[in-house]
Amino acid sequence: MEANRTLIIGAGIAGIATAIRQAVAGREVHVFEANSYPGGKLSRFELGSYRFDAGPSLFTMPHWVEELFELAGENPEEHFPYLKDDVACRYFWTDGTRLTAWADVARFAAEAEKQLGEPSSNVRNHLSRVQVQYDATAPLFLQSSLHRLKTYRWKHVKSAVRALPKLDLTRTMAQVHERAFKTEKMRQLFHRFATYNGSSPYQAPGVLAMIPHLEHGIGTFLPQKGMGDITDSLVKLAERCGVQFHYNAPVSRIQHQDGRVGGIELQDGTVWQSTTVVSNMDVVPTYRKLMPDWPAPEPVLNQERSSSALIFYWGMKGNFPELGLHNIFFSNDYPGEFRALFEDKMPGPDPTVYVNITSKLAQQEAPEGCENWFVMVNAPADYGQDWEALRQETRKLVLEKLSAILNRDVAALIVEETYLDPPGIERATSSYRGALYGAASNNRLAAFLRHPNKGNGPKGLYHVGGSVHPGGGIPLCLMSAKITNEWIVDQS
Ligand SMILES: Cc1cc2nc3c(=O)[nH]c(=O)nc-3n(C[C@H](O)[C@H](O)[C@H](O)COP(=O)(O)OP(=O)(O)OC[C@H]3O[C@@H](n4cnc5c(N)ncnc54)[C@H](O)[C@@H]3O)c2cc1C
Repeated sequence: MEANRTLIIGAGIAGIATAIRQAVAGREVHVFEANSYPGGKLSRFELGSYRFDAGPSLFTMPHWVEELFELAGENPEEHFPYLKDDVACRYFWTDGTRLTAWADVARFAAEAEKQLGEPSSNVRNHLSRVQVQYDATAPLFLQSSLHRLKTYRWKHVKSAVRALPKLDLTRTMAQVHERAFKTEKMRQLFHRFATYNGSSPYQAPGVLAMIPHLEHGIGTFLPQKGMGDITDSLVKLAERCGVQFHYNAPVSRIQHQDGRVGGIELQDGTVWQSTTVVSNMDVVPTYRKLMPDWPAPEPVLNQERSSSALIFYWGMKGNFPELGLHNIFFSNDYPGEFRALFEDKMPGPDPTVYVNITSKLAQQEAPEGCENWFVMVNAPADYGQDWEALRQETRKLVLEKLSAILNRDVAALIVEETYLDPPGIERATSSYRGALYGAASNNRLAAFLRHPNKGNGPKGLYHVGGSVHPGGGIPLCLMSAKITNEWIVDQS
């Protein structure tokens, strides 16, 4: 058996980051990826002369990417250039109200008072309160395993315990915002952050109100070569560290004997042996498909899925000066949108529309005078809905809303087009039901119910990525790689 070898199933961002950390720790690392390309959700493609990021568009906490270069003894600036945006997001409502949410808190607060009538002190106070919460709890809840005794002996426990009374443990996120803000529009704006982990603000715990601290306290960024460069530059780094990537290599079995992993079997029958296997595949199919003979942790796997998305990728002929990198066109009925998503399992009848245009900052992503629009609407996970009909209906609603608010015929400017729906997300990445972030956080215990990075599976099996601790989204996936690497290093 190869004792110094780590086998990683999947080249998603967490799989790549784990590979780098394991290679730096001196291990022989192989990554097996079902697709012909790396990155999973964080990948990109071309359509005519436009380039699109397939999935993530918001990049926060770039230092977690930089840390990987530093670990390998490299200067991140030489390999991974990125920009900081002064605007976190531009918001639009159907009544004509517009708001530029500056990344800088004082400027954002002043703008909110001017455009919405929300006292600027409310915005400043709320953001400084969630910053305190974040600083006190992130090291414990996000940057360590909740499932190791070692974590609870750590000095950060003290600060988290001290912060407990201020953590809004008994309220929902929406209730926190109702107390913090006076205007409905400001509440709606802050409720939106629940979708950053695919949840409903009306059910998600109040502690998630700290999510906007990432945008307004730390900032929003864009790699100079587009989001796909996070994947590309990290794959190159991994290769320089000696990691071997095997593409078009779907894994069909995790082999185990006497309660210990022995290796993996590829779909073509090839077997690779090792006593250390890391699955970056969604944890549900990891159990159901790769080791159906092992007792699965049913309550964890059967949790409600996070939301998914309907995405339209539009190559636009023309420029929209009023738009920026991130733009939100709000629903007139936000509670109705989340009821539809989580109760009826349907896209909202009046959906909130997110438009991301990377060519605003990375001009090479679209031809001159044109823009690459990534247009996303929240959708439920896939429960067998008629996605063809829902896509057509949603496209019509989206075009009507954007054309009315922007006062231009948006459809007439689309020259290239493709789409992605929840079944397409599952086909491309094996994410169960096409959910973007694994399980939803629509209850107070969600953080503790996520599958651990080292569970009760065969000894030597670890899990990384958006479906396990600490959660979905690029920064948390990078954290899962760090926590898992610590487990493996400590146990070898
Ligand atoms: C539309 C969309 C928008 C998003 N927006 C944002 C955003 O703005 N900001 C943000 O931070 N996050 C965002 N996210 C979430 C973020 O993309 C994910 O949390 C993160 O990329 C997940 O990474 P992962 O490591 O879990 O792997 P994944 O990206 O899920 O990739 C898993 C990889 O494993 C491979 N694989 C699976 N099974 C096997 C097997 N049996 N054998 C071999 N290979 C296998 C898959 O092919 C895939 O490449 C978004 C996601 C989507 C889809």
